[in-house]
Amino acid sequence: MKYTDKKIVIIGAGPAGMSLAASLHLAGLDYVILERKDGVGGQLPLIHNDLDDFVVGVYRDGLDFVQKLIDFNNKYRLNIEFGCVVKSVDSSKKKIYFIQNDIEKIHAYDILVIATGSRHRLAEKRLIAGFEKDVYYRISHKLNEFDDKNILVVGGGDNATIAALKLSERGRKVILINKNEEMISRPDLVSEVYSNPKIVVYNNSELLHLSGEGLLEGVEIINNNTGIKQKLAIDKIVFKIGYLPNSGFVDERIDLDDKAYIKTKGKYQTNIEDAFAIGDIVSGAYKRIAIAMGHGTELGNYFLKEYLVK
Ligand SMILES: Cc1cc2nc3c(=O)[nH]c(=O)nc-3n(C[C@H](O)[C@H](O)[C@H](O)COP(=O)(O)OP(=O)(O)OC[C@H]3O[C@@H](n4cnc5c(N)ncnc54)[C@H](O)[C@@H]3O)c2cc1C
Repeated sequence: MKYTDKKIVIIGAGPAGMSLAASLHLAGLDYVILERKDGVGGQLPLIHNDLDDFVVGVYRDGLDFVQKLIDFNNKYRLNIEFGCVVKSVDSSKKKIYFIQNDIEKIHAYDILVIATGSRHRLAEKRLIAGFEKDVYYRISHKLNEFDDKNILVVGGGDNATIAALKLSERGRKVILINKNEEMISRPDLVSEVYSNPKIVVYNNSELLHLSGEGLLEGVEIINNNTGIKQKLAIDKIVFKIGYLPNSGFVDERIDLDDKAYIKTKGKYQTNIEDAFAIGDIVSGAYKRIAIAMGHGTELGNYFLKEYLVK
């Protein structure tokens, strides 16, 4: 049995791209990862809480896990090109256009794997202008800043309910606003939120504006069902309003869902031949490290056992 000598280009050195590369590397295949940052690990350095999703151990935080990826890379020397910001992909010509050290470059590929992950959705700039100091997207590394404060959490998913519960241990009061009829978070978290005496929930509600002299002092929210507006005394706002996919460079031939995540079928195959997607960027994927790594490992196995076999 022999492998084809196809050139595989993976975009992104997060857990998904690294796991795939590890499989290909150990089998001696021709691959390269193009990564825009100077190091491996994708979103992991942003994780400041205990990382305990793995039965193989508890990691102090995301950086602790990144160190394991660095150790792996030091041992096996994966073929990664850092500082490569991919700007566009032409899937008809099988070319990737990217910038490295301010120089525009082109990489040809036979097989493309997109593993570019996702990022936090940010609040509208005009909404928070002037109050950026009191606006948060992550809380774990700054919990003391919430001590005895009136806190507004915006969002209705797991990240919003988890943040509200955590902040209720520090703040004076937590208000959770959610634009839907009901929160979409896990039922156990939702009932924990409702039974927490420090948390007040406003469903069907949106943030209209922020007010204060220098520091944030209050917000106005509106109930979209009744049209009733109300002012709340708030010192800190935490936005947990979901994620956006890093798919801006993908050409229009590749099918995306209505939120711009990449649609896949079967073994992570996009609608275009020889183009795959793995990890957070995949439409409908649960955004977890174990899942991203699973995608990479499974695609690697598919390449090695079927797709690349001559
Ligand atoms: C604050 C926070 C806390 C989290 N907590 C947990 C947790 O407790 N447990 C858990 O399992 N998961 C957690 N996650 C989610 C987890 O980090 C992701 O699911 C995982 O990192 C996804 O891996 P990925 O490889 O698909 O994408 P990513 O980790 O996003 O990696 C994508 C890589 O692609 C690169 N890239 C993107 N665009 C380009 C481009 N145009 N050109 C070149 N390179 C590009 C990026 O620089 C990045 O290195 C958390 C995430 C965050 C932000």
